[in-house]
Amino acid sequence: MQIHTLFTGVANTFIVENSRGVMLVDAGMPRQARRIVNAIRARGHTPSDVRLILVTHGHIDHAGSAVALKKLTGAPIALHRADARLVVTPNLKIPPGRTRATETLGALMRAAGWAMPLETFAPDVALDDGQSLRDFGFAARAIHTPGHTAGSLSVLCDDGALFVGDAILNLVHVAFPLYWEDAPQARASALKIHALKPRVCYTAHGRAFDATELEAFIARVKKLEIRD
Ligand SMILES: [Zn+2]
Ligand SMILES: [Zn+2]
Repeated sequence: MQIHTLFTGVANTFIVENSRGVMLVDAGMPRQARRIVNAIRARGHTPSDVRLILVTHGHIDHAGSAVALKKLTGAPIALHRADARLVVTPNLKIPPGRTRATETLGALMRAAGWAMPLETFAPDVALDDGQSLRDFGFAARAIHTPGHTAGSLSVLCDDGALFVGDAILNLVHVAFPLYWEDAPQARASALKIHALKPRVCYTAHGRAFDATELEAFIARVKKLEIRD
C-alpha cells in the first residue's frame, strides 16, 4: 500500500493506493477535484480506479470536492452517519473554538463562510466504528473518533498507518484540533487512537507523526487531566 499526500486548499487529501485500486481519504476544499484527479492520473491510475471517497468528517475542507470527485470517478462517498447533518446544507460549520483566540477566528469565518458554499450530498456509505473497508479493496477499517465532530472517523490500515482526520493535528506540534464539538469526547478519542498503537499517524492538518510523537502528546493530555 502506498500513501500520497496532497494539500487541497486547507487540509490534506490522501491518495491511498494498492494493487486493487485507489481510496481517497478526504476530498479537499471545493474546486479541488480536477487537481486530485490529475494527481491520481500522475500516479498511473485512471479515475475509475478510485474505489471509495472516504470523508473523515463533514467539514468543507474535507467534504468540499466530494460530489465533484464522485462525478469524475464514479466512486461512492463514505461518511459516518452522525456527520451527514453537516453536509445537507451549504453553510460553513465551525465548532466552538478550543481557545478564546480560535473562538474569535471561528466567529469571523462563520460570518464570511457563504463565500464558498458546500456542494451538499447524502453519503452513499454510512460507516460505523470498526467497519472493514475490505469490500472496497483495502485492508483497513473505520474507527469512530468523535469530539471534533460527532461523526469524525479515523482509518486504521492493517500495516499500522492511521489517518486521524482532525482528531489530532500537527501544525506546529502534535495537538488537539483548534475547534471541537465535544471536548471530553475529543480527549477520549485521542486515548482511543493511542490504544490502537499506530505506527504512523496521517493528520489532515500538518505533517504525519510517528508513535513517539503521539506518545509525547498523550503524556501531555494525561497530565492536563490530572491537573484539571
Ligand atoms: Zn474539521
Ligand atoms: Zn479540517
